[in-house]
Order: sequence, then structure tokens, then C-alpha cells
Amino acid sequence: MRFRLLLLSVLLISVESKHIKTKVVILGAGASGISAARALSNAGMEDYVIVDAQSFIGGSRVQHEAFGNSFVELGANWIYGKGDNPIHRMAMQHGLKTTPNDKNNVAYFDDFGLLKNQEEGVDISNEFESVKIKLVDYAEKRMKRQQVDLSSRSALSLLGWKPNTPLKAAVEYFNIDWEFSEPAEMCSLDYATGTVDSITGTYPLGNEFVVDERGFNYVLKKELATFLHLDDTRLMLNTLVTEVIYNDQNVTVITSNGHVIEAEYAICTFSLGVLQSDLVQFTPLFPEWKRESLLSFHMTTYTKIFLRFKERFWGDWQFALYANNVTQHGGYYTVWQNLNAPGYLFKPAATGDNILMVTTTDTESQRIERMTNSQVQHEIMLVLQKMFPSVQVEPPIDILIPRWHQHPLFRGSYSNWPIGALKKHHLNMRAPLENRLWFAGEATSSATYGFVHSAWLEGKSVAGSILECMTSQCPVYEKHEYITGCDVYVREKKPRFFGQFSH
Ligand SMILES: Cc1cc2nc3c(=O)[nH]c(=O)nc-3n(C[C@H](O)[C@H](O)[C@H](O)COP(=O)(O)OP(=O)(O)OC[C@H]3O[C@@H](n4cnc5c(N)ncnc54)[C@H](O)[C@@H]3O)c2cc1C
Repeated sequence: MRFRLLLLSVLLISVESKHIKTKVVILGAGASGISAARALSNAGMEDYVIVDAQSFIGGSRVQHEAFGNSFVELGANWIYGKGDNPIHRMAMQHGLKTTPNDKNNVAYFDDFGLLKNQEEGVDISNEFESVKIKLVDYAEKRMKRQQVDLSSRSALSLLGWKPNTPLKAAVEYFNIDWEFSEPAEMCSLDYATGTVDSITGTYPLGNEFVVDERGFNYVLKKELATFLHLDDTRLMLNTLVTEVIYNDQNVTVITSNGHVIEAEYAICTFSLGVLQSDLVQFTPLFPEWKRESLLSFHMTTYTKIFLRFKERFWGDWQFALYANNVTQHGGYYTVWQNLNAPGYLFKPAATGDNILMVTTTDTESQRIERMTNSQVQHEIMLVLQKMFPSVQVEPPIDILIPRWHQHPLFRGSYSNWPIGALKKHHLNMRAPLENRLWFAGEATSSATYGFVHSAWLEGKSVAGSILECMTSQCPVYEKHEYITGCDVYVREKKPRFFGQFSH
């Protein structure tokens, strides 16, 4: 990714600057940006421009890279649920290759190798499953009584769950950190771990793991192709936005290669991490209520480390959990995935692609990003040798480590709802400024944050609001100048203002 940015800067210098006038400028060609453009186009509104700093479209947090003879997904890999999930529908329509993902297909390891009693791991996993169900029930009851939010750690402890053995800590890590990218201490009970989403996903019927050599973003590219050609001048790739000037009349976007784009409306789909940073200058500075809301949510980091070995020395499991003492403090190479599991690699292992993927999260990811690849590899080798004591584990032929936290176009992987952030913060985060500068992306999703489908639905929804502004008047977005006390919502039947889609 670093190489891509360098290449990008070189490309940016050679472009002739333009002054463009348009009705809508869409900032970002990720899932949200493409979906917004599609919604405008479907409504016959063709006067828009899409700007992205990357050289490719299709969702930058949905990107893949060649690794050996295969391609691996650096970002999004799972389609969470089926049914009404628009991403699953698109995947089916465009023939994306996926394989069912089974989180129960787990091998348990500790510092002495494969646990002799695998049932012990299964029992603890089952115990945690029932704790998760209790968490949802507990969160619902507390919200109905209008009690304050708790950290997931406090709630887990109140419900009697204690990760006081390495195995219990590893199981908790797999269920909390590995999903939310932050430990239970950070996560909100009400809006993260205590939601039905955390058990079934927003959409039910199981998750699919993308194993298509064209990459997950193939579906987004195909969708874009239904309404915009790749060489259409409205698609401005390799274009880094440096400043966004907004007022109640229009929005002006300045790019690093000297383009000036004047639009009636802008849809900003930059990640929460980018909005929390000063990488793009917004003029005037966002009002305090907006900044408070953006800073109240967390942009987490989820790192998939890929290792390619000459020989395969592991079994057919889909997942492996490595339980050691350190696991209790935010994970230490805890969750492993076997990309040679039956149905997983799109090319057979005969091609020599024996690939393991290990995930790190949160502060561990940030620590790793500061290290060189060979330093990380050294740590991983020590872990693997403990997990497989009966074989001499040879170093991998290749290692691939995406660095999402350091990347200036993302500053992390996806958002998480931390303890302390209220519904009103979320409403403020999503609220437009001056009805001209609008925000969409996974983080602004009121239904579910953090996923490709969230970004897709948000792009569509915000484009719909702008169409309303153009044809009649802008819809009123709830926002709060000063947020005081805890959330009390009496007008909805459900305690959460968002939550699960009904099926
Ligand atoms: C490691 C990882 C694993 C994930 N796993 C899953 C998963 O399995 N399933 C799932 O559903 N979701 C997953 N996600 C989340 C999912 O990828 C995102 O929620 C979704 O892709 C976000 O789309 P978006 O359009 O909101 O943002 P983005 O894809 O970030 O789009 C924003 C665009 O803005 C551009 N941009 C930023 N700054 C500038 C600038 N200054 N100038 C010009 N352009 C700029 C970026 O290049 C980017 O293309 C994962 C994400 C990561 C990183």
C-alpha cells in the first residue's frame, strides 16, 4: 500500500489542473461513494463527480493483492449474512465465489501444541455463546429501565464471565476483539456487544468468506459499470482531496493536483479515521458538536497478516485459537485462519500456496505497524513453533502485512461504538452541515456500523436525502448542539434507535 501512495504522488504531479462545476461531488469511491452515485444515476441525476485518491475503484477498504499464485483480501473478506443484505445479493448476481464460514470449525492450541482435550475448547466456546445471549437480554433490560450504558467488560463480569484462563481469554478474544477490533473494556454494551447483531449479524443465515481471484471489490466494480464507464471524466481517480470549503450555498473541493470542484452538494465518504485526523482541511472548521461526535467513536485497526509457506504443516481446520497468558491483554497472534481449508483457496494448494492468516487488533495492530515485517515474522515464528512443537517450522517464503492504521486514506480499519458514546453523538456524526456537506460511510450507518453493507446502504440513503433537497426540501436531520445526560428515547418502541433489520 505504501508503494501505491508513492506512485500516486508521482501521478498527481503530472495532471493538468481543472475547474469543474457540478451538482454533487462524491468524496471517495468506496462502497458508500459508488452506492451514492448509483442512487443519483438511478434517479436520472447524472451531474455528479466522484473523487478518490486511489488509482482504482471498488472500495479501498475492499481491496486484494497477489500473494503467491493466489489473491488475498487485505480488507473486507466476509459477507455478513444473506437475505436482504444488498452485498450478498450483488455477489450472487455477479457470480462472486464465496465459501461458507464456520466459526465452530476451530482447533485449540496453547503453548504446548494442540490441546489434547479439544472438548475443553468447545465447552468454553459454548459457554461464551450463552453468555452472549445473556448480554443481549441484559442490555435490553437495562435500556428499558433507562440505565446508563456499561462497558462490555463490566457487563460480562456482572453476568459471571471471567476470562481467567488462557483458553477462556482466547475464546473471548475470538468473540469480542476479533469482531469489534477492540477489547471488552472499550466496547459499549448497549451498542456493540449487547446487540442481536453481535450474535446473528445484521442479516441472518450465515456468513460467506470471499474466495474469488477477481477480489471482493469485483462486485462493486460491476455495480459501477452498470451506470458509469471507467473512462468517464466524472470519475476522478488519483485525485487527493486536501481541502473542502462549505457554506449554505455550495461546497468547493480543492485537490493536491490543483483541481477546483464547485458543487451544490458534497457527500463525504472518507473514513472516520480520516475525519478524526487533520489530513483533509475542512473550512470552516467543523462546529464543536460535530467534532465531539466524530471524536467520540473509535476507528479501530484489524490486521490480517498473511504467511505463505513452502510446506503445509497444519490440519484442515478453518480457525485455530492460540491460548497463552498474554491473550488476556488484548491478544497475541490469537486467531489463525487456514486459507487451505477445504473450499477456501481459490487455487488448489498444489500451486504451492500454503497460506495461514493471523489477525491482530487494536493496540497490538498499532504495535505491529511500527515494526518491520521481519520483526513481526520473528515473533510469529516463535508462536508457531509453540503451536506445532513436533515439527520444525520453517520461516515463511513470504509475509504480507497491511498497515491500515498508518495509511493516510483510512487511519484504521472500521469504526466501533465505544463506552461513553451516546445515540445523540451518532446522530450528530451523521448530520449534514449547512445541508450542503453530507456524510456517508460505514461509520455513519444508523442500522449497523463497520460493514460493507453499512457503507452501501448509507451511500444510497444520503444520496436520497440530497435528491429530496433538489426536488423539494432537505429532510430534517436530528442533531444536538449540546449533549447532556444519558439517552432517553420514549418515542420508539425499541430501546435502541437503530438495531436490527426485521426479517
Ligand atoms: C481489515 C479490514 C477488514 C474488514 N472486514 C470486513 C468484512 O469482512 N466484512 C465487511 O462487511 N466489512 C469489513 N470491513 C469493513 C468494510 O471494508 C468497510 O466498512 C467499507 O468498505 C467502508 O466503505 P466506505 O465507502 O465507507 O469507506 P472507504 O472504502 O474507506 O471509502 C472511502 C474512500 O475515500 C478515499 N479517500 C480518503 N481520503 C481521501 C482524500 N483525502 N482524497 C481523496 N480520496 C480519499 C479512500 O481512498 C477510499 O476509497 C473490513 C475493513 C478492513 C479494513
